[in-house]
Amino acid sequence: NAAAATAAEGPIIPSVAVNYTQLLINGQFVDAASGKTFPTCDPRTGEVIANVAEGDVEDINRAVSAARKAFDNGPWPKMTAYERSKIMLHFADLIEKHNDEIATLETWDNGKPYDQAAKIEVPMVARIFRYYAGWADKIHGLVVPADGQHHVQTLHEPIGVAGQIIPWNFPLLMFAWKVGPALACGNTVVIKTAEQTPLTALYAAKLFHEAGLPEGVLNVISGFGPTAGAALASHMDVDKLAFTGSTETGKVVLELAARSNLKPVTLELGGKSPFIVCEDADIDKAVELAHFALFFNQGQCCCAGSRTYVHERVYDEFIEKAKERAVKRLVGDPFKEGIEQGPQVDSEQFQKILKCIRSGIEDGATLEAGGERFGTKGYYIKPTVFSNVKDEMLIARDEIFGPVQSILKFKDYDEVIHRANNTRYGLAAGVFTQNLETANILTRALHAGTVWINCFDVFDAAIPFGGYKMSGHGREKGIYSLSNYLQVKAVVTPLKNPAW
Ligand code: NAD
Repeated sequence: NAAAATAAEGPIIPSVAVNYTQLLINGQFVDAASGKTFPTCDPRTGEVIANVAEGDVEDINRAVSAARKAFDNGPWPKMTAYERSKIMLHFADLIEKHNDEIATLETWDNGKPYDQAAKIEVPMVARIFRYYAGWADKIHGLVVPADGQHHVQTLHEPIGVAGQIIPWNFPLLMFAWKVGPALACGNTVVIKTAEQTPLTALYAAKLFHEAGLPEGVLNVISGFGPTAGAALASHMDVDKLAFTGSTETGKVVLELAARSNLKPVTLELGGKSPFIVCEDADIDKAVELAHFALFFNQGQCCCAGSRTYVHERVYDEFIEKAKERAVKRLVGDPFKEGIEQGPQVDSEQFQKILKCIRSGIEDGATLEAGGERFGTKGYYIKPTVFSNVKDEMLIARDEIFGPVQSILKFKDYDEVIHRANNTRYGLAAGVFTQNLETANILTRALHAGTVWINCFDVFDAAIPFGGYKMSGHGREKGIYSLSNYLQVKAVVTPLKNPAW
């Protein structure tokens, strides 16, 4: 474990040096044009980990121009797809080799349990790059049987310069979901990381260049949304935009894209996913899964099962057990072994969650567990459970993005389908039942991009992910993500010379 304890008391001190804090433009680490930096902080204490170069409009311009040059004149789009794939595979090997250092940086910057970073997320990053490396040389068009005497084929070409904006909840995994398919298709990239968690993308981009990535193909800009992010979204020379974050900011970037050069946009936005526990469910298992569906990653998941609908026949037993489970959840220093929940990412999220908890109490929901900060330092929140939640309460409508489970009672399936769908979101849903017919009915009736039956948060590189309604546009991962980064060109040739 790279994060071995070096202090008897207080937060465990990570044993990894923070070596990369500048912007990565055209294969070089450089300062921001303004010379400005901003602090990235340890959510366990609020203390500064490092000062990071603060990218702004001029840096985005420099990065886009490097990506443009690399796309128009560089080797990347022209090299064989097999060569591209080999570089991506080499990069995946390096991620694996540096798994523990990367996981340490991720935990330090974000607050997630080290085991989760080291055993699930960083290995998944390598998996995603290998998956898309595998696609690189299998992307091809069709021969189309058109009417008349014509040979018609389609060419699948890279779009050009992809601009990507990512959030802080799964910093390097979101980097992988976006960069993997874009590069496999032969595009070049400028990615703006979240201001809360800039460290791992810089580390990974350094490894990518070690793996042989040509300069200018991948540019990483740390910085803030309204400056660097907005400059990327509205850039006239960016050919495609991919965004993950809040629905509110999603609307902003879509508008910036439309008002500039009408670049196509994919959006992965917020959610308020229902998790439906049916009357026939094994309650112990249902409690554990509903708990995981909400509390995983400190509740900071866009697809969190944040409306737990429980059938009235099993409701009372479920509440008792859900409360017991939440009280048992191990909260503490995310570098400590066995810890299930670390701090929230920053003071802003911490305050927002506490405000949502206060609103749940004021609106008359029953506070069964938690409801306050944990400890006296950092951004820890006690696992919180509300029962008697009503659909119209804020805690049942808005994305809390924290460890707050809202439990609602239902009577019959028509009713729960209506209530589950009665939201502006449509990212995911969970169904817990042993009855195949119930599962089939609910699966087809729920308006969500993913429905997990008797499981939750199963994320495989090949499974598409994305939202209905205001949870977003388009799908990421799997074969579906490739079409986000490809143009289709129809080529029509007469089979015999027409009479001119
Ligand atoms: P956000 O949407 O503001 O930030 C996400 C990314 O967008 C960051 O990189 C940010 O710098 C950038 N950004 C912000 N404003 C921008 C702008 N005007 N133009 C271009 N880019 C911009 O999210 P947040 O402020 O970090 O969190 C707020 C809420 O968003 C959370 O409480 C949560 O509900 C939600 N959220 C959702 C996800 C998700 O995966 N769907 C991830 C993070 C946060």
